[in-house]
Amino acid sequence: MTTKETMPFQAEVQQLLQLMIHSLYSNKEVFLRELLSNASDACDKLRFEALSDPALLEDDPELRVDVDWDEQAGTITIRDNGIGMNRDEVINNIGTIARSGTREFFARLSGDQAKDAQLIGQFGVGFYSAFIVADRVTLTTRRAGMGAEHGVRWESDGTGAYTLETVDCPARGTEIVLHLREEERKEFLGSWQLRSVIGKYSDHIPLPIRMRKLGEDGKPGAEWETVNKASALWQRPKSEISDEEYRAFYKHISHDFGEPLAWTHNRVEGRLEYTALLYIPGKAPFDLWDQRQTHGIKLYVKRVFILDDAEQLLPRYLRFVRGILDSADLPLNVSREILQGNRVIDQIRSGITKRVLGLLEHLATEEPDKYQRFWTEFGRVLKEGPGEDFGNREQIARLLRFASTHSDTEVQNVSLMDYIGRMREGQDKIYYITADSFLAAKNSPQLELLRKKGIEVLLLSDRVDEWLTSHLPEFEGKRLVSVAKGDLDLGSLESEDERKAQEATEKAAQGLVERIRTALGDRVETVRVSHRLTSSPACIVLGERDMALYMQQLLKQTGH
Ligand code: ADP
Ligand code: MG
Repeated sequence: MTTKETMPFQAEVQQLLQLMIHSLYSNKEVFLRELLSNASDACDKLRFEALSDPALLEDDPELRVDVDWDEQAGTITIRDNGIGMNRDEVINNIGTIARSGTREFFARLSGDQAKDAQLIGQFGVGFYSAFIVADRVTLTTRRAGMGAEHGVRWESDGTGAYTLETVDCPARGTEIVLHLREEERKEFLGSWQLRSVIGKYSDHIPLPIRMRKLGEDGKPGAEWETVNKASALWQRPKSEISDEEYRAFYKHISHDFGEPLAWTHNRVEGRLEYTALLYIPGKAPFDLWDQRQTHGIKLYVKRVFILDDAEQLLPRYLRFVRGILDSADLPLNVSREILQGNRVIDQIRSGITKRVLGLLEHLATEEPDKYQRFWTEFGRVLKEGPGEDFGNREQIARLLRFASTHSDTEVQNVSLMDYIGRMREGQDKIYYITADSFLAAKNSPQLELLRKKGIEVLLLSDRVDEWLTSHLPEFEGKRLVSVAKGDLDLGSLESEDERKAQEATEKAAQGLVERIRTALGDRVETVRVSHRLTSSPACIVLGERDMALYMQQLLKQTGH
């Protein structure tokens, strides 16, 4: 018995559909990429679940995706024999947008088609892209392991509601039929049209994607053929992979429509055996600062997909990296729990961390413009590094970039090496100041003396800078010293005459200092004559071990 129910879309879905149809108008073919990627995910999931429950494969163990078309009916059909969905899963995955990021998605739409198109994948709204070309979509699915009578059919014209009914569905997996709009038929309905789009998006998918073979008469026949390369891209030799393929693979795994900035692909053999293909994205994802933000490394064991977001594979300060890691040393039944504290994982982690740092170092020296772009997007994340990864502290420190009084602009492009190269004769410390904004740092009275003497000071104003400097006491044997803390001892940068003059001033002002000290009482630790000012009359200075002022204010605001 089947009854058809009609259910409304969530308000956001409706809005999203409208936006998508308009904003992706010049990128229509992405619908195929999204649906193929879902089909391939569904096969990955089944393959994984079948490791512990082989019966799920029923009598159909060869996982694949078939793409078919019907010129008469004006339809394209995408069919996979992957995991499928039960009724609740259809409602939760297809009828609603469960993600927390939806509101943010709307806030970020710019009206610029190319940019908005990039957002779509990132927010995991891929399935709806079907409505860019279709005015009706029918999805029929049956979850692996359930009886044929548990099939579910979902249908919608993308205007407000969908219907749901229980149907008989002997074939496991999901079939999606797109009823193309009249005006889209010419562009997509046909063997070579579909092949060219599939080729573009799926050569790297390690799963056969099949289409009907054309007969003598040029019409599709009953035989099927695989139309993609269907080999795991990362297992092929580097020399045989084009940049185009690397880029397409990045888009496939990252859900980012934009281009990657750089990548590194390597195979390790010997005590450990693994292949890593890691990418630095061109743009930061919208949720980079979200604590729940997922990690970007997919873990495979001997080409079998195991799990997404394997956070044990890279330290947090490299959480922007996307890619895959395929290990030959882990058991196929690994779980997140097993990954925790696993010796093999720890060694892989340290190996690929070095790889990523090496890639960044290469960019920094060979392609500084690219590196600058990286820094603008992800620099604040990398600054968490010295505090998190003691072993690689030196290498991370070489990658850091700061604003400084050298150019006095907000652009963070001064490396610690640059700084050292410009140090004054006799200077043995790296001076910096932290503040809650660039302007506050730049205009701080505490810089007066150093400016006058032509000593460069790093101007730090990112939230993470206090944390960074507390974990980076020195670089190349030079101490990092805050000009806002303690005694500003300029050492041999001060001449004997200057020091004598300072002593004389201190003596002369002793009476005044005493009076101010009495007046301020307990509110300050001490009052003393300062030599760091040239035009301001006075400034507040912190003890060596005190927290920066703005951090103290921050804590106060949050009730500490
Ligand atoms: P995403 O792929 O980023 O999760 P989508 O909108 O593309 O977002 O898909 C939403 C969800 O619908 C998927 O996460 C998956 O659970 C489910 N889904 C989509 N297509 C399929 C399919 N072919 N087989 C099984 N589940 C699917
Ligand atoms: Mg998807």
